[in-house]
Amino acid sequence: MRVLFVYPAFERHAQAYPELKEHVPCEEYIGSPSLGIASIAACTPKDVDQAFVDDRIHPFEEGGWPEADLYAFSFFTPAATRAMDLGDRLRAEGKTVVMGGIFPSMMPEEVAPHADAVVVGEGETVWPQLIADARAGTLKARYQADEPADLAKLPRPLVELYLDAEDENFQPDDYPLQISRGCPFNCDSCVIPCVMGRKIRFFPEETVWETLKAFAARGKRCCLTEDTSLMFLSGARRRFRKLLRRIAEHREAEGIALSYIGTSMPLLLNLEDEIFEEIRAAGIERFYLVGGFDPITRAAFGPGDAKATEQAERCVKRCQDAGVEPYVSFLVGNEEDDEGTFDRMLEFSNRVKLQIAEFAVATPYPGTPMWNKMIAEERIIDRTWRRYNDTTVVFQPRNMSPERLQQGYLDLWRLFYESRQDLKMADRSLCTIQF
Ligand code: SF4
Repeated sequence: MRVLFVYPAFERHAQAYPELKEHVPCEEYIGSPSLGIASIAACTPKDVDQAFVDDRIHPFEEGGWPEADLYAFSFFTPAATRAMDLGDRLRAEGKTVVMGGIFPSMMPEEVAPHADAVVVGEGETVWPQLIADARAGTLKARYQADEPADLAKLPRPLVELYLDAEDENFQPDDYPLQISRGCPFNCDSCVIPCVMGRKIRFFPEETVWETLKAFAARGKRCCLTEDTSLMFLSGARRRFRKLLRRIAEHREAEGIALSYIGTSMPLLLNLEDEIFEEIRAAGIERFYLVGGFDPITRAAFGPGDAKATEQAERCVKRCQDAGVEPYVSFLVGNEEDDEGTFDRMLEFSNRVKLQIAEFAVATPYPGTPMWNKMIAEERIIDRTWRRYNDTTVVFQPRNMSPERLQQGYLDLWRLFYESRQDLKMADRSLCTIQF
């Protein structure tokens, strides 16, 4: 049996709005795929032949894809339009298609007409049964993972599947490293607690270490995306610091390296000075500071609260003083935001001398609190899933028109980078959080 895992394409900022190419990095960074497929692949029976195709690099239209008995898609909302279209086309050719990941877990009814089977929830626990059913010709329409996976029992992700698929067109600098799943918070437009639950679960340290080593063996660095910043929560910090120290100790001998840590301003402000030293010792060069979900950035750039603004400035300065570059991701379109938000963000960026930033539009991803609220208040104005990618206004904002918010987002990119034209393109690569 042969399984072809598919990571469907989605549009990023300058792909969705080509006018941005003039002002933001021309070679917009194409991030590595999320670890979801690699984790499922590790749970595939050994006698199944498996391969991986990244539709962003090798689109289906360019000569089709290798033959397979099962085409297994994993995707989040920005890729849903493309995924469902591809599912239709493959099935029209008589192929068998299964779909899982964040969007199918949140919107299984929407996905069902485009696939032979939909996987809902964390797929590792149901995947072996799905493979057995596919072999027997008894595939069911839905596979529901009722419980979150027991991370202590999962093998490390089969990252070689991605690394073997790299070619001259696609060689990401870094790949995400997952050290936990789930989140006790409930931020407006975040899908993590919806898909992975409200309880934070940790991978065993050895699983994390073996994953790091597998990437290092092929010369790859890892990054820690924002959901992992929860390792800065007081209950998880000791575990994370142990990992940082282990990386610092072995990074030269093993070639292990971390590029950046995604986190939020409140978590960063609460860190002890020694952790900054450990982060530096582990070779981490950048903090990716996700804004718009936490109380500090929402108050600083929404109503312009003076105390929150001072906290945000202190946070950026702390990073700069520690020699770890702050890369702020500004989110526009929260309920507090008004037409003054754009200026507040630019003034802040100039005041604290930010060298690099990105701008995103608040997006009501299905299943999130923001989605539920927008549905209840009948404020969704666009259900085209490919536009749910942090670039396009798909809802009626509270304090301005959709057009004003859209223009404000585009102006922010332009005005921020116009005044930083001296920056080398290579220093402006984007490393946006995995949606
Ligand atoms: S944005 Fe971060 S803190 Fe908020 S729910 Fe998502 S993972 Fe948790």
